Amino acid sequence: MSKVRLYQAANSIEANLLSGLLSHCGIAAELRGEALGGAIGELPADLLQIEIWVDEQQLPEAKQQLEQWQQQSSQGNWQCSQCQEQNPASFDQCWQCGHIANRSE
Ligand SMILES: [Zn+2]
Repeated sequence: MSKVRLYQAANSIEANLLSGLLSHCGIAAELRGEALGGAIGELPADLLQIEIWVDEQQLPEAKQQLEQWQQQSSQGNWQCSQCQEQNPASFDQCWQCGHIANRSE
């Protein structure tokens, strides 16, 4: 079975989130990064370019999951009223400054 590249993640956090989501749907995702060598967790996330590879056969399904995920993750974003940082919907607190989300603002 040959592998194809699905997506280039912005950082290792995104890559891990996405590979977790895919494996939850029965899709085996493989992470490939330029800084590989088992040290991904020890490097600053933003220095890494991580690609997500999947089996060719599972690519259509994986793409669907990816699109859904991208839609969801941009829909619920909220902006911190204190530091103006964008936060994903799943966060109740600003990741940047710790300000508690006030979504009615
Ligand atoms: Zn903030």
